[in-house]
Amino acid sequence: MISPRSAEEVGEAVTTAAAEGLRVRMAGSGHSFTGAAVTDGMLLRPGALARVRSLDEHAGLVTVEAGCPLRVLNEHLQARGLALANMGDIQEQTVAGAIQTGTHGTGRDLASIAAQVASLEMVLADGTITSCSAGTDLFLAARVGLGALGVLTAVTFRVVPGFLLRAQEEPMRWSEVIARLDELTSSNEHFEFYWFPHTEGCLTKRNNRCDGPARPLPGWRYRMDDEFLSNSVFGATCRLGHRFPGMIPAVNAIAGKALGARRYVDASYRVFTSPRRVRFKEQEYAIPRENLAGVLAEIRALLARRGSASPSRSGSPRQMQTGCPPHRAGTPPISPSTCSTPRPTRSTSARLRR
Ligand SMILES: Cc1cc2nc3c(=O)[nH]c(=O)nc-3n(C[C@H](O)[C@H](O)[C@H](O)COP(=O)(O)OP(=O)(O)OC[C@H]3O[C@@H](n4cnc5c(N)ncnc54)[C@H](O)[C@@H]3O)c2cc1C
Repeated sequence: MISPRSAEEVGEAVTTAAAEGLRVRMAGSGHSFTGAAVTDGMLLRPGALARVRSLDEHAGLVTVEAGCPLRVLNEHLQARGLALANMGDIQEQTVAGAIQTGTHGTGRDLASIAAQVASLEMVLADGTITSCSAGTDLFLAARVGLGALGVLTAVTFRVVPGFLLRAQEEPMRWSEVIARLDELTSSNEHFEFYWFPHTEGCLTKRNNRCDGPARPLPGWRYRMDDEFLSNSVFGATCRLGHRFPGMIPAVNAIAGKALGARRYVDASYRVFTSPRRVRFKEQEYAIPRENLAGVLAEIRALLARRGSASPSRSGSPRQMQTGCPPHRAGTPPISPSTCSTPRPTRSTSARLRR
């Protein structure tokens, strides 16, 4: 196990490993739900390759080393009035780990984190350091490459002026979400919802750009909702449901009501991301947008047939997000007050947690 401090040290490690007949894998923060970062060969750790290298505010480009956590990048950009245009649910991953697996959030016109990458610096299998950018085959293949095409040593992102998001979160009945799915996904820049299996309860989230002023959640409300209810209580109810599966419908009915409606306005990355302290496993499926309602109805019917006590039970919320393919993603707006044009969405991802 090695913690390289530069692209040159990564190159030396790769050459040494090749001479010893070992495979090489660089890990990020280990947040993948699979063993994607595991190797029986030489493991490179990201901790010493985690600096912000440069920022060109005029060009809107920031270059960070591969092991830089998204949280550090977000705070660095925020301090300079800049931001990533879209994010996933958490910001603990390294930039390389996040893009290598196609990490994404929800977005009507904006795609994944990898879609915001302008160029990559990487070490190839023969130990050479190379750079690639949009339009080249290497870039297209390596951007979401699961670490298979080489070791990324630095990533350059296109960034946008910092912006505020107005968050509107509210419980909604399943039947209403399904009936309004087209409207909710097309009239909001970022729409997603969680469904609590074996109940009618959903929690909907709509995030849209706004001019401000910022109205962050009061500290007590953040601690109550995002720390206490979404982590401590959620963790306890998961354990309870796992131990006594017959209780899942009742537990989920309470969980679906515990998180009430709330509205706030805050810096984009603080709205996109939340603390997630409950350990879970997740499967994710991409479904063509037009098939979403039908697929959800089938999943719901399947779970109802099996019942909460079946061996394949899972009471964890199902998360539904809308995604925009990179080639159709809009250019991020130039100013926080400029809204992007609504466009039909192509796919939806449904996440199943266990
Ligand atoms: C609580 C939680 C919330 C999550 N939320 C979301 C979400 O909202 N949206 C979403 O899409 N995903 C989400 N994920 C999944 C997560 O974003 C991805 O699994 C991501 O890859 C984790 O990044 P990491 O830094 O931990 O990478 P790791 O898991 O350590 O590695 C992932 C892959 O990247 C490769 N890799 C890492 N660094 C390099 C490098 N320098 N060069 C080459 N290859 C490299 C590894 O070899 C491995 O194949 C979530 C996961 C958790 C645990």
